[in-house]
Parts: sequence; structure tokens; C-alpha cells
Amino acid sequence: MPRPGHIKLAAALAVGAFLAAPPAHATGRPAVAALQVTLRHHHVYRGPVDGVVGVRTTTAVMRFQRRHGLTADGVVGPKTRRAFGRFARHVLGSRPLTPGLAGWDVAELQFALAWHGFPSGAIDGGFGRHTERALIKFQRWAHLTPDGVTGPGTFRALRTPLPRCPIALAWPLQATVGSPFGPRGTGFHPGIDLPAPAGTPVGAAAPGRVVFAAYDPSGYGKLVEVAHGDGVISMYAHLSAFSVHVGQSVGTGRRVGRVGSTGEATGPHLHFEVRLRGAAVDPVPALH
Ligand SMILES: [Zn+2]
Repeated sequence: MPRPGHIKLAAALAVGAFLAAPPAHATGRPAVAALQVTLRHHHVYRGPVDGVVGVRTTTAVMRFQRRHGLTADGVVGPKTRRAFGRFARHVLGSRPLTPGLAGWDVAELQFALAWHGFPSGAIDGGFGRHTERALIKFQRWAHLTPDGVTGPGTFRALRTPLPRCPIALAWPLQATVGSPFGPRGTGFHPGIDLPAPAGTPVGAAAPGRVVFAAYDPSGYGKLVEVAHGDGVISMYAHLSAFSVHVGQSVGTGRRVGRVGSTGEATGPHLHFEVRLRGAAVDPVPALH
């Protein structure tokens, strides 16, 4: 079976793709994520929506092409694009996006929003309530009118480099990153997972003040949040026990709690998340 070069597919995708250039530090491209969502929509792809062209994506394109009587070259050209149907008609930026719409461009929007710190549940190409909420938060973050409708200002803001953590951070515990910041399955992981035995002490990543120390019902479980100034907040989730209370000042390395698996966790690990004015950012570049 011929295996087309991935570069060929990537080049074909770039044609007409509004968000062709990846945002700084993002791995994966919105247009490729939209292709993966489209392939899932057509039941020929079950892989992750990660925006990266790999063997599984190319194989799925060829499967789709064979089913539709097209040359199975794995290249998404005009004919394949047409065969994808209505869902794939619009690329991001070609029409304003409003709640209720669905398609390729919505998937691109969801993927770009997630990388900019505002994940919206599953990246599925459907502009639902989660997407609207994420979009409004992003618009507020980018000092745009928070109207939940994409226009030129939003498209422009989504092409700017990703926000980065402006302060240096210490590792909250010594471990190898189990699950990184970025796409995961059809969703987006807004922090890093550090696997460690239950009870392992968790240290504050930088000096600051505890602003939250309670059970969070949305999935974080026992959660501690520390505010560091400059709009930076660090979050320590799935804890088994708290070692601090709200209002307390902490120094770097001060124990804030212990590793557990409370909330939505399959095993003991620390979910470590960093927010900059509410946007989730990859903590790894800031960790020393
Ligand atoms: Zn996690």
C-alpha cells in the first residue's frame, strides 16, 4: 500500500487554511485538527484530535477516499474536500461563527481557543454552550467585546503567540511528566500530570497567597490555588489532604497538600495547572 509523505498532506491542507501557521509553542495545527474532526464525523478516524498529521490521519483520509471512489493518495485536495460535504465547507475566518453552527471552522476555533488557554470540552466542530463560554472568556482576555461571536478581531487575536507564564516556577514535586499540557483524546489537557504515590508532599511553585483550598466539584477534587501576582495562579489538584488555608502566605516549596486521587482521577497524581489572567498556560517552560 503506498504511503504518501506527510509533508504532501500538510502542504495540501495549508491551501486556503486561515490558521495555517501554528501559534508559537503549539504543537499541531487547527486545520489538521479540523480534518481529524471531519474524519471522525465520517466514521473513518478514531485517533486523537491533536492537529498533527500522522499515519493514522493519513490512513483515515485514504479510507475515506476509497469509500467515495476517489484516488486514495491521502492528499486532501479539492475533490476530497468536496466529498467531505457541508461540514468541511468553511475554513476559519470565512464566516462569523455563532452558537448553533457546526463544521470545519468551528473545530479550528475550538482547537485554537484551547491552545490559547480556553479549552471547551470536546473538540467536535459543534458550536455549543461550552464553546460559547470559552470564546467569551477568550474575548475578555484579549480585550475584545465579549459577545460570543467571532469576527476579524477574534480571528486576529487567535493568531497571536500563546501566552506564557511570566514568572519562574519550582517543581511542586519531583516526577516525570505523565501527561503533558495539550490535546488529549478529543479534548485538551490544561495542565501537566505528575504521577506520585498517594501522600507525597506537594510544594508551592512560587511565593504567593493561598486563594482557594477546598473540594472542587468540577473534577479537580481537593484543590489548592496560590496567587503569585502578575495575574498568575498555580493550581494543585486531586489532593488527598490540605496543608494550608485560604489567606495564608506561602514561600516556594512550602507544603500545600499531599498527592491523592480525589475528583476525576484514575490514580494518585498531581494535576498541576498554571493560569495567566484565567488562561491556562503550559507550566513546563517556566519550571526550573
Ligand atoms: Zn491532569
